[in-house]
Amino acid sequence: MRQLEKGKLVVATHNAGKLAEFADLIGPFGFEMQSAGELGLPEPAETGTTFEENAYIKAFAAASATGLPSLSDDSGLIVDALDGDPGVYTADWAQKEDGSRDFAMAMQKVEDKLQERSAIKTEQRTARFVSVICLAWPDGHADYYRGEVEGHMVWPPRGALGFGFDPSFQPQGYSKTFGEMTATEKHGWKPGDVDALSHRARAFQKFATMALETLEA
Ligand code: IMP
Repeated sequence: MRQLEKGKLVVATHNAGKLAEFADLIGPFGFEMQSAGELGLPEPAETGTTFEENAYIKAFAAASATGLPSLSDDSGLIVDALDGDPGVYTADWAQKEDGSRDFAMAMQKVEDKLQERSAIKTEQRTARFVSVICLAWPDGHADYYRGEVEGHMVWPPRGALGFGFDPSFQPQGYSKTFGEMTATEKHGWKPGDVDALSHRARAFQKFATMALETLEA
């Protein structure tokens, strides 16, 4: 990984839920962050077919516009019984005709498809969240960090915390959904902790481990 400087990192997201999680994760490291939204950068079209491609599109767009290294996350929900859908198209499943996003509708859509396939038992409803974090530089260089968390889809959704599909996803080994977890429970992590829980925190943990090495070098 290349040398990062504190205070010089753009977070390439327009998603308020992700931004809040990044702020929680990055805060303890003293990386002062500016978000793509705050900088008024346009939101690039996510035309890739993999999490890596879309993460690169977002991070490189911000890096080339600002001249600073930029961090993005492309994430999604992979439901085994739906052949991996909604996957890289997770955000699109919440898209309404007027352009706004409705996650209650998106969770219902996943549930309808699970019902169509008679996926009733927990073991038929396995799923994982994936996050690929990309750190891109203005010259096009990029590094990738991937995090995943296994779990299953619950119905009805539970909890009003978090964002997106959180109320319908219960991570393996926990009795709460992500929607019932506080931010600290879902993605709290600091150097020295063995494992983060959420996909984004696990990807961030890999990024931060590398970043701290470059800062200490
Ligand atoms: P994208 O990475 O901008 O393409 O969007 C990924 C989509 O996946 C988000 O809009 C959310 O719907 C969903 N998603 C990603 N991470 C999470 C999470 O931590 N909780 C709930 N939903 C998530």
